[in-house]
Amino acid sequence: MADIALGVAADRPLSPAEDDEMTSITAVPLDSRSIDPFHALLSDDEQAQVERSLARTAADLSGRTLWHVNSTAEGGGVAEMLSTLVPYLRGGGIDARWAVIEGTDAFFDITKRIHNLLHGARAERPSAAEMDLYAEVMAHNGEDLADRVGPGDVVVFHDPQTAGLIPLVRAFGARVVWQCHVGCDEPNRHTRAAWDLLRPAVRHSERFVLTRPDYLWDGLDADRLRIVPPTIDAFSPKNQELSPETTDSILAAAGLGSDGSSHAPTFERVDGSVGRVRHRVRCHGGHPALRGDAKVATQISRWDRLKDPVGLVRMAADHLRARADVDLILAGPEIGTVTDDPESAGVYADCCTAWDALEPSLRERVHLVQVPMADDDENSAIVNALQRRSDVVIQKSLVEGFGLTVAEAMWKRRPVVASAVGGIQDQIEHGRSGLVVEDPHDLAGVATAVLSLLDDPTAAEQLGTEARERVRTYFLAPRQLQQWCELASELAPAASAA
Ligand code: UDP
Repeated sequence: MADIALGVAADRPLSPAEDDEMTSITAVPLDSRSIDPFHALLSDDEQAQVERSLARTAADLSGRTLWHVNSTAEGGGVAEMLSTLVPYLRGGGIDARWAVIEGTDAFFDITKRIHNLLHGARAERPSAAEMDLYAEVMAHNGEDLADRVGPGDVVVFHDPQTAGLIPLVRAFGARVVWQCHVGCDEPNRHTRAAWDLLRPAVRHSERFVLTRPDYLWDGLDADRLRIVPPTIDAFSPKNQELSPETTDSILAAAGLGSDGSSHAPTFERVDGSVGRVRHRVRCHGGHPALRGDAKVATQISRWDRLKDPVGLVRMAADHLRARADVDLILAGPEIGTVTDDPESAGVYADCCTAWDALEPSLRERVHLVQVPMADDDENSAIVNALQRRSDVVIQKSLVEGFGLTVAEAMWKRRPVVASAVGGIQDQIEHGRSGLVVEDPHDLAGVATAVLSLLDDPTAAEQLGTEARERVRTYFLAPRQLQQWCELASELAPAASAA
């Protein structure tokens, strides 16, 4: 594999059609949010520590901006995290901003293949010409960033889609961090091929942020490594408390089941106003979905092969046929809405093909659900209600960087059954705060674990209680805010000059 210098303007210009497709970097509009509500969940000491960190970093940055740059404003874990983290940083007096790069369809196809390779999955390796196109898209975005980012600003780039910007942005004096949310437990030749493609750009980063120590790449300086596992926001529409009645009415308003309750399908928006669920989900086969008395097992994920939704439809065929009391829900974003995920339509189509092959009685109980994305907060509220309605939450990923959906379900005291891969292993202590299945391809193992919990509500409740406490201790936003403050302060001009 040629050592291609990413982020350097390529010889091959974008075609006129591709150039038309490109607009520019988008600044995601964000509010500021106070961390005060966390006081209800943290000790006085813990709360004071976070407040001190934010204040120190705001002073260290002294007028400089902390940028986060990624490739989509909605859909997937990174967008989810930034949408809560950046407002809290702003609320702490830090000028934090979030920018989203622009890319062409061909660009996102290339970066999705790099993403899959990084995970150790087989994917066609980008050719030299394709990497030239990648570099051209980076150069286009780099020009735009140069107008916005000042020397001394701290810029955090996320994932392969933005890695090529690192040398460009360093060249004009910004301090640069690269966070890769993708990692591989056992790097193979696919992973190494992706490392070789990206390393020429990534090695210019002053810090590498990964979610697990094992994910450090060959050839990157371990001294610059920082480990920052993701966290969830307990107060976002995704995770805020919902009563059982509101949960039911939200699901009913979204078209998932009937509603006997007189509660309004409302939730609190990120800006504090009251939102109401107005859009309906789409279910393949047009079924009215959930029966009121069904035991429900759910996986919520992007339509991505590495989350193995097709495997779960097969699991239903092979292992849930005799369980007329159990519904399986596979939910994900409405197709065509996650800009940096070009494979979703194909994966969803494969799920539909597998569903079409189910016998009719199973089709009544297996639901392929596209959650509306027209309104981010509403999407989150529907996901929140789905997770709360679930008796068991599944995350049958074949690989996983971290798996925010696991922490989200654990916070809601749901018993989770998940593959023992990637960051899922850091979240669930098997048998204590959830169940993990060693072999991520083991459909029978997942089914057995799910049914064992559906059939033993007491054990399920115990796991859920421990799960909640584990998230409270390790995976709530204040911990991550503190880590980001430390990192930004290390690189901030005031601290560097000291
Ligand atoms: N998600 C969502 N709507 C959907 C499906 C998923 O908001 O229809 C969210 C999910 O709740 C989680 C994120 O997308 O917050 C997925 O993050 P995770 O780390 O599990 O996986 P990734 O997509 O980053 O691979």
